[in-house]
Amino acid sequence: MTTSTNQFQKPITANINTKGNIEIGSCDLVDLADEFGTPLYIIDEKTVRSICNDYKKAFEKYPKTNIMYASKALCTSAISALLNDEGIGFDTVSSGEIYTVYKAGVNMQKVLFNGNNKSFDELNLAIDLGVGRISVDNFYELALLNTIAQSKNKTVDILLRITPGIECHTHEYIQTGHLDSKFGFDLSQIDEAVELILNEYTNLKLHGLHAHIGSQIFETSIYADEIDILCKEIARLDEKFNLKLDEINIGGGLGVKYTDQDVPPSTYEIGELIINKLNNSIKKYNIDEPTLFLEPGRSIISMAGATIYTIGSSKQVPKGRKYVSIDGGMADNPRPSLYQAQYYAQIANKKETQETEKVTIGGRYCESGDILINEIELPILNEGDILCVYNTGAYNYSMSSNYNRVSKPAMVLVNDGRAEIIVKRETLDDIVRNDIIPDRLAAK
Ligand SMILES: *Cc1c(COP(=O)(O)O)cnc(C)c1O
Repeated sequence: MTTSTNQFQKPITANINTKGNIEIGSCDLVDLADEFGTPLYIIDEKTVRSICNDYKKAFEKYPKTNIMYASKALCTSAISALLNDEGIGFDTVSSGEIYTVYKAGVNMQKVLFNGNNKSFDELNLAIDLGVGRISVDNFYELALLNTIAQSKNKTVDILLRITPGIECHTHEYIQTGHLDSKFGFDLSQIDEAVELILNEYTNLKLHGLHAHIGSQIFETSIYADEIDILCKEIARLDEKFNLKLDEINIGGGLGVKYTDQDVPPSTYEIGELIINKLNNSIKKYNIDEPTLFLEPGRSIISMAGATIYTIGSSKQVPKGRKYVSIDGGMADNPRPSLYQAQYYAQIANKKETQETEKVTIGGRYCESGDILINEIELPILNEGDILCVYNTGAYNYSMSSNYNRVSKPAMVLVNDGRAEIIVKRETLDDIVRNDIIPDRLAAK
């Protein structure tokens, strides 16, 4: 019973059922709340598969394309297994993510390890588990990785992460490709890195260049500029070092539509633009067709996710706002308090009333900044109503915490009327699991 004409993205199976409730994956959200409790993360399998399919189709005309899902958006064993089933590879940024995809049965050749401060232990694990590529970020890591590879008598396949010096208009915290970013080699440092790899670090084999400009990007021209720079560098390195690099990784960052102010390009538009630009640059710089890697995170998983909450207390500030509180907030979705991110929501249970009011959805955490949605027009809310917040698949669970010692919610995968738990709700015993009381302080 939507009362707003807002345009926003929701799972492709989201519907109003005969009871008047919202359903996703043919599962009534009110039934899911009853069965599994709230807050509850919901992932719609059909949406995930359909987006993977869009990506594959959008890049069909450039067969040397590999989609590497950026695990940091949402990394669980079942999500890894699902994307693996779709033939997608994985971009990982920690031993935890590497281990998760490994345990999910992913072919480790299809895994890339990325990050600006990978530890000795993490690089060790990546080599031992046979990760396909390591994207080396800096001089320190080049030396460290070569030492580890040497000690194992192995050659490690690498990319160089570079900073192409492109500004994108996204939130400052999620820009990464501008010149004074903490990530990657500056363009002026590439030659020195390549010389080291060719002459000293003989246990490293360089295959190509990697860049990632930022996140929640809407401007397609950024990708065109980035491709041009990467191809130009490949041609230049060939000329200078007689070095044949045949891989370019253009990172992720494609935006999604959280609210009607967000206008991301479609996967097909971005696919066409990238392929055209790449073909132009190949001609322009006279290089061989490189293998193309993309690392979408948010744009693969965000729209498939929704979170349901139960409405509790409310408060009308005299002559001020009306606050309505939910049983979750900044610990299960830190993005609004971290980036002023905006979300759209609807009431999941049948609402006869057509009367609406403007409310601010407050979280349950002890911070004034814990506001999930600032001013949204919704049917009059009562305690016990179920609120469904859309587009929460990416950077919600993966950024969640136990702030206020609140257990993390469960996650269910829904499809064709079936809801399967893929992450268990934490129990109170989980909350104290890692705590230790020194004997001398134990209650007598
Ligand atoms: C975060 C990140 C991504 C994914 O970004 P999205 O905005 O989720 O698509 C891809 N590559 C790298 C290197 C990243 O750091």
